[in-house]
Amino acid sequence: MSEGQDYGFDTLQIHAGARPDPATGARQTPIYQTTAYVFRDAEHAAALFNLQEVGYIYSRLTNPTVAVLQERIATLEGGVGAVCCSSGHAAQIMALFPLMGPGTNVVASTRLYGGTVTQLNQTIKRFGWSAKFVDFDDEAAVAAAIDDDTRAVFCESVANPGGYITDIPAIAAIADNAGVPLIVDNTSATPYLCNPIALGATLVVHSTTKYLTGNGTVTGGCVVDSGKFDWTASDKFPSLSAPEPAYHGLKFAETFGPLAFTFHGIAIGLRDLGMTMNPQAAHYTLMGIETLSLRMERHVENAMTVASWLEGHDHVEAVTYAGLPSSPYNSRVETVCPKGAGALFTVTLKGGYDACVKFVDSLEIFSHVANLGDTRSLVIHSASTTHRQLTPEQQDAAGAGPNVVRISIGTETAKDLMADLDQALNKAHG
Ligand SMILES: *Cc1c(COP(=O)(O)O)cnc(C)c1O
Repeated sequence: MSEGQDYGFDTLQIHAGARPDPATGARQTPIYQTTAYVFRDAEHAAALFNLQEVGYIYSRLTNPTVAVLQERIATLEGGVGAVCCSSGHAAQIMALFPLMGPGTNVVASTRLYGGTVTQLNQTIKRFGWSAKFVDFDDEAAVAAAIDDDTRAVFCESVANPGGYITDIPAIAAIADNAGVPLIVDNTSATPYLCNPIALGATLVVHSTTKYLTGNGTVTGGCVVDSGKFDWTASDKFPSLSAPEPAYHGLKFAETFGPLAFTFHGIAIGLRDLGMTMNPQAAHYTLMGIETLSLRMERHVENAMTVASWLEGHDHVEAVTYAGLPSSPYNSRVETVCPKGAGALFTVTLKGGYDACVKFVDSLEIFSHVANLGDTRSLVIHSASTTHRQLTPEQQDAAGAGPNVVRISIGTETAKDLMADLDQALNKAHG
């Protein structure tokens, strides 16, 4: 591929970041299964350790297979750089780590993946950080929640699991006005359906475990930087703007410009937190991304078909899929995710908790698992599993009440999925 060309998404998802292996000509990206890299000489080693030269030192920081994946995801998201790590939750910590310090807070949407609510509500307190949860449909409340100690605003583009779409341009404007970065978790939408950076986000995080890998094989995460935030505009982000003692007083923003956040993520984040992605995982995710657009098109087409059909089913009370005209979030599809509202939604069953449990146990093609974004169709009863640690109020806010089942529509034949759902619904209500 040549630089500066305006390649399409389908081309970039196969080629971005990759080139034939210079040593062997291998066309597919090799799995560089190595821990360390031989230095040319002592001077080269010293330059690498001083961040004066970019290169490979040790696979906790960088690895050539992982580097291809980083460049590929950064390109698809329209960012300047990306750092991959061991899981989606690791990516969230990696995104917050350079921004936060003791006594600071992140303003977060109430509609988030259950594990993220727990991470932000409970675990980050041990670092002296805190989160303020706000309804992101209430723009005045988001603006009011941001105070002098706020260092980030956090939401999901298409939120897991409730069929909710964030008005990213509106939230980005609020964050921008307050001089804090907006972090968008783009896991459920993927860069094929939604481009948060083009809509104003500063950073994008992913659980690559889901659609990017696409077939439920490996866990991974990624933080993409837009390169657009000015870390030196205030004294709020000293990790990026002030001298770094661990690198002889180097200032990341001054030295690396738009790549400051990415270099910090590798040189400090991965070096000291060690949440590294291994090259095998990067390989599986690279394989998955090659067909991302093809899969997402089928995921969305199937989700539309199945959700519309479910909405008319006798045993179903409600379906929260933003792709349906009945959804209050349908009007945001056009601006936020014009190629479709993803393939994740919830159904509320008329029979309540008991019917949900029976329904989940009666399915044959759908698997009952704590995952989503697989080629296989999956279900989970969120209230008794992923959202179990939340209070009833938090469960309701996240669209995961006791009578609700989350469905992740795969790429199988839609008619088979509907037949399976139909027999399980009938059993659950029999
Ligand atoms: C799964 C998921 C996460 C967490 O990712 P892991 O890879 O499981 O750590 C975060 N956000 C969303 C939206 C998810 O679906």
